[in-house]
Amino acid sequence: HPYMAVYTTAAGTLPCRIMLKRFLPYYKPYLGLAALDLSCALGLGLADLVFPAATKRVVDVIVPSGDLPALARFAVLLVLLYVVRAVLEFVVGYYGHVLGVNIQHDLRRDIYRHLHTLDTRFFDDTKTGQIMSRIVGDLFDLAEISHHLPEDLIMASVRLVGSLIVMMAIEWRLALVVFAIVPVLIAFSATFRDKFRKAFKRNKETMAAINEHIEESVSGVRVVRAFGNEDFETARFDEGNATFRASRIASVWHIGVFNTGVSFLSNLGLVIVLTAGGYAAFRGSVSMGAYIAFALYVARFFQPIETLVRSMELFQEGAAGFRRFLEIVDTEPSIVDVPDAVELASIRGDVVFSGVGFRYGDGLDRVLEHVDLSVAAGETVAIVGPSGAGKTTLCSLIPRFYDIEEGSISIDGLDIRHATIASLRQAVGLVQQDVFLFSGSVRDNIAYGRLGASDHDIEAAAKAANALDFIRELPQGFETLVGERGVKLSGGQKQRIAIARMFLKDPPILILDEATSSLDTMSELAIRESLERLSKGRTTFIIAHRLATIRHAARILVLTEDGIVEQGRHDDLVNSGGVYKRLYDAQVESLLVS
Ligand code: ADP
Repeated sequence: HPYMAVYTTAAGTLPCRIMLKRFLPYYKPYLGLAALDLSCALGLGLADLVFPAATKRVVDVIVPSGDLPALARFAVLLVLLYVVRAVLEFVVGYYGHVLGVNIQHDLRRDIYRHLHTLDTRFFDDTKTGQIMSRIVGDLFDLAEISHHLPEDLIMASVRLVGSLIVMMAIEWRLALVVFAIVPVLIAFSATFRDKFRKAFKRNKETMAAINEHIEESVSGVRVVRAFGNEDFETARFDEGNATFRASRIASVWHIGVFNTGVSFLSNLGLVIVLTAGGYAAFRGSVSMGAYIAFALYVARFFQPIETLVRSMELFQEGAAGFRRFLEIVDTEPSIVDVPDAVELASIRGDVVFSGVGFRYGDGLDRVLEHVDLSVAAGETVAIVGPSGAGKTTLCSLIPRFYDIEEGSISIDGLDIRHATIASLRQAVGLVQQDVFLFSGSVRDNIAYGRLGASDHDIEAAAKAANALDFIRELPQGFETLVGERGVKLSGGQKQRIAIARMFLKDPPILILDEATSSLDTMSELAIRESLERLSKGRTTFIIAHRLATIRHAARILVLTEDGIVEQGRHDDLVNSGGVYKRLYDAQVESLLVS
């Protein structure tokens, strides 16, 4: 599978070093913010080193001297220190998150832009739910980690190094005892690295599977209802939900064992210090204040180690999200402009297929083979044939939704692969069977054909599409909202909006995929009339599903698995008694029966 291959080979196994290299540029626009955040984190780490030293002074110096004003002055100094610390903490808490949100914004921007460059095939092969969970959930985690991780690293390192230095100064032998525990902690946490990596990857995958299922069963809710398969869908959902639960439980098991182990080891360190330090104080080799300070520093020494090892957890989680981000971002589109691509401007619209062969993917059967077809500018051809013959496919090759494997397609003599994709798609208009309306007003939906079109042009387009009358009757006319939260238009009304869009777009080449479901006679007439108007002067391909609608077409192409097997006018094709005649007879018969 082409895209899955990209997923598993490239980004799925990227080493951390490379991922870091890919992630760092996201900090670049926010260097000031990052510097502020991290320097405040540094300050926080330093501030936390003061308390044990202060305690030592109070116990060893101030209390024995009985100097009450000195104690008060000391207290005031400490309050000031904590005021400063509070400011630092606020800055880290607020601006750190601002940094994270900014990075999240940029990551999301990049992945969204990239999505629109990807081949149509990517969308054939990737579930919407998968894309959604990568763009929404995974990036949220990543944003949190993008600032918490460096903050933690800095604070923890300062506390670690600072407390170590002070401990060495107070009593180096005792400090060495403490230090002996560090390698044990590191070795312990190293055993968890792979476990975390696998667990977090699996969490994200199972979550994405849930999203995928929700997306599908919601968009297909009518099918679910029509078949009364709610229980079946629910059971499938429960299965996915249970898989996620199991995956999550497995990872919190690791987290549980890991956290417990780390805490236990550092508590063990505390006991050792308490005992060894108590012994030293007992022997009189350290002062009482130094002993207390030491015990407080040890806590400040182990805590950052715990933080650091926990950062590893965070890092693995962020890495899992970033890998999934990169899987999409690293998917290269294959349909891109060639270096010297030319603009297709003011073209006439001659379309020529020569020796075209196409298949949807490696290992799949050829859908089209040796297709030769020449359509003159302004000509209208109707394409008919049994379903699955490749009518839709043939037409989707013209705007390069897919690239052909063999032969060439040219417009006005220029191979479409040498034209810029933007200008090619500007030159080709496509009216699809199921019209997609965006949420917004009727006006917005028509203006989609040419963004920024004037009200006058929009109304003219609606008129040409025979849509003006029904639009005027809508509650708010052109401003009526359609789409998910707006009024529901009938199939025929949607078709006319799509046709109005096309009048605005005004492309020299037109592809009409005739609606398969039959419309009421009035709509049908209105639509047929407006389509005739639309196709005037344009090279037009009509994918016809009902032969009645193309009886009068000047040129009918009959496409089967063997390519274009017949072409001509309706009467001639019927008289010649070939494939067309059989298709025609079948349709007439089904009409008579019904
Ligand atoms: P028609 O429009 O004549 O009914 P299509 O062009 O839709 O036929 O389909 C032609 C063949 O290509 C069918 O066998 C169909 O299964 C296959 N096909 C269509 N779209 C895709 C796709 N996106 N990926 C893989 N195969 C496809």
